[in-house]
Amino acid sequence: MKIRPSLLLGLVLATFTFTGCQVVPETGRKQLMLISPAEEARSGLAAFSDIKKSEKISTDAAANAQVQRVGKRIAESVGSRMANTQWEFVVFDSAQVNAFALPGGKVGVYTGLLKLVSSDDELAIVMGHEIAHVTSHHGGERTSQNLAVAGIGVLLAVGMNQQEVSPAKRNQILVAYGLGTTVGVLLPFSRTHESEADRIGLEFAAGAGYDPRAAATFWRKMSAKGGTKPPEFLSTHPSDETRIAALEALAPQYMGLYQTRKARYE
Ligand SMILES: [Zn+2]
Repeated sequence: MKIRPSLLLGLVLATFTFTGCQVVPETGRKQLMLISPAEEARSGLAAFSDIKKSEKISTDAAANAQVQRVGKRIAESVGSRMANTQWEFVVFDSAQVNAFALPGGKVGVYTGLLKLVSSDDELAIVMGHEIAHVTSHHGGERTSQNLAVAGIGVLLAVGMNQQEVSPAKRNQILVAYGLGTTVGVLLPFSRTHESEADRIGLEFAAGAGYDPRAAATFWRKMSAKGGTKPPEFLSTHPSDETRIAALEALAPQYMGLYQTRKARYE
């Protein structure tokens, strides 16, 4: 059957209108979504299992204890935003100053990052940021945008509740979550996604009893460090100073939450 371009466009738009839109609850921003949460989670779980086989897992007791301690509290803070999640926090032995979070609640932190953070508060800021990309489905959204550009949204939307995620689509989702090292490309998050993850990440960190003011101190340190290959969380920001100023302006809003929750953990 030959489909006229106008008809195809109509079908694509209809699909986006009726099945492809959702809202990020914390910010009210509408996003295009042609990937189901289940599909995102399946991709995340499979990728994490591959990464654990290919990368060296750290046996450093202090590093592991720190990441588990902070991760557990952040997971509690995220709460119903990721209900029924089997959280997993793994430390990878690598000089990379980086961390990542995948759909399905799988989080990796590199020892290179742990050397740079000077407190649990700073680590919580980074983990909160990465997890905020996941709760906001930023990877799924970027994949959806790519699919839409490719004009194949209709076909994929129809098949989106299938049990199996095609390898091509799975790769797209992973690239979209910044896992460039495993698939060979790094697709930076947009400025919109970065500032959204910064804000929601602060909320997760403060809700876990960690100091939201640590965001500015941490980014200032990262900014001074520079480096050749920026990690995910430094990849697309317009300028360090703009980001730090935004985080400093946001922090006071979360001080009350931070102090209440901190008392709970003491
Ligand atoms: Zn980010």
